[in-house]
Amino acid sequence: MITMEGKSVFSGVAIGPVAIFTKADTQVRRESIEDPEAEIARYHQATEEAKDQLQVLYDKALKEVGEESAFLFQSHQLMLDDLDYVESVENIIRTQKTNAEYAVATTGDNMAEIFAMMDDAYMKERAADVKDVTNRVVGILSGAGSAGMHATEPSILLADDLAPSETVQLDKSLVLSFVTRHGSTNSHTAILARTMNIPALIGVDYPEDCEGKMAIVDGAIGKIFIEPDEQTLNEYKKKKAEEEEKAALLEQLKGQENITKDGRKINLYANIGGVKDVASVLENDAGGIGLFRSEFLYLESDTYPTEEEQFAAYRKVAEMMAGKKVIIRTLDIGADKQVDYFELDKEDNPALGYRAIRICLTREEVFKTQLRAIYRASHYGTVSIMFPMIISLDEVKKCKDMAALVQKELDVEGIPYGDVELGIMIETPAAVMISDELAKEVDFFSVGTNDLTQYTLAIDRQNPKLDDFYDSHHPAILRMLKMIVDNAHAGGAWAGICGELGADTTLTEEFLRMGFDELSVSPSMILRVREAVRNTDLSK
Ligand code: PEP
Ligand code: MG
Repeated sequence: MITMEGKSVFSGVAIGPVAIFTKADTQVRRESIEDPEAEIARYHQATEEAKDQLQVLYDKALKEVGEESAFLFQSHQLMLDDLDYVESVENIIRTQKTNAEYAVATTGDNMAEIFAMMDDAYMKERAADVKDVTNRVVGILSGAGSAGMHATEPSILLADDLAPSETVQLDKSLVLSFVTRHGSTNSHTAILARTMNIPALIGVDYPEDCEGKMAIVDGAIGKIFIEPDEQTLNEYKKKKAEEEEKAALLEQLKGQENITKDGRKINLYANIGGVKDVASVLENDAGGIGLFRSEFLYLESDTYPTEEEQFAAYRKVAEMMAGKKVIIRTLDIGADKQVDYFELDKEDNPALGYRAIRICLTREEVFKTQLRAIYRASHYGTVSIMFPMIISLDEVKKCKDMAALVQKELDVEGIPYGDVELGIMIETPAAVMISDELAKEVDFFSVGTNDLTQYTLAIDRQNPKLDDFYDSHHPAILRMLKMIVDNAHAGGAWAGICGELGADTTLTEEFLRMGFDELSVSPSMILRVREAVRNTDLSK
């Protein structure tokens, strides 16, 4: 038995034979040509053929894996029409009198290098797309053979790396798991694995001679076992059967309402950290996004993300959610979430320090930039805003003033925006105690039980030594939750929970009895919480 470890990008267990993915041979030779214009015409003909192929792939992907993965092939079609790309190819053919294969490959290499040098993680990933689309055109020009997985039964797919067009051409019914040597957590393979709900590992340096050998992938611990011994195999067969049983039961809940036996409904939304998480939100049938932790955009960047960058991210999420509610929390930086370019002072008690809304209200440009981006994105879906770490009415009024100012600016500039609900996180005892007054100022409350527990019990949530003391079921917390909902409703606001406690199914019934209108949990917990809601009977 060979055991190898990699990085897990999606969990689950897969058992089956190994199939190694082979790349098409796209070795390009440089050849001199006599007639550049004829060669350019040959290039354009190949481009048209590539676009036709991409259209077929788009249609196939749309049917099999949905809009997000399919969109990629549209972007590949656009790349083929990119003026810089086309001009570069034509220029190489004309000035160097070389064959189209060479001109296309050189252009693709140059552009991929430019993308790879960019700081932005998303743009870096585009290098793989340029290479992919370039290989397609070169393949057509040279009549190269097709790449693929040569398996006839469902298999664990091992590959050096998988380009998006390679993954979509695969017969999905034959793929049990993706295991690659390269690729990143943001890679398309990872997105696809999430969409297909199959385990995937990256960074596994597998041996070349394992084609056809039996293997096990454990996505939860990031391991692959090749030629497992009998005991391991039996252990995993049992684990897989248990997983399948649970998953099948939960699958049946997709498309079902979040309703108790006696007819009480609740909204079940998902928490996300960025655009890449939306796929699993949809996959798990969440009714919306109850917490978009926008600070991840700032954490992933080396400098302040611009209004345009933020707008693009928020708009994408709003569009992907297609009208379902998306609650974007404004920047919650500071404490454990440090970003160098904010140049925050070192503090003795950072959790009680200069963080979240305190930064936004004193660095107005940062705040305004983010609010402008969110309001602009609100035109493309149903977007709400919520402010973190609120302790006073005055803060809420200042936040609302800034939101009004942004709307006025956008009006003057003629930029459209939607109807945006404004809410606050209730995560400080101060906010709980004045929640009656706060409720009159906002559209909704979302309880951040992670911080509320920390501040109420005076326990640093980051300190592992205090894990046993950190009790979110403490009666003080539960009484506060009840007080928050009652005050919200009395003041005309709705109330939800977006802290980890919201996914605690031992409390689902209690949350329903308290009167919460919404629970926002990690995408993988949606169906489990739905199950708990549907098993509840409040009439008893
Ligand atoms: C919370 O505090 O419960 C919360 C949802 O916010 P975060 O965990 O991001 O602080
Ligand atoms: Mg918090």
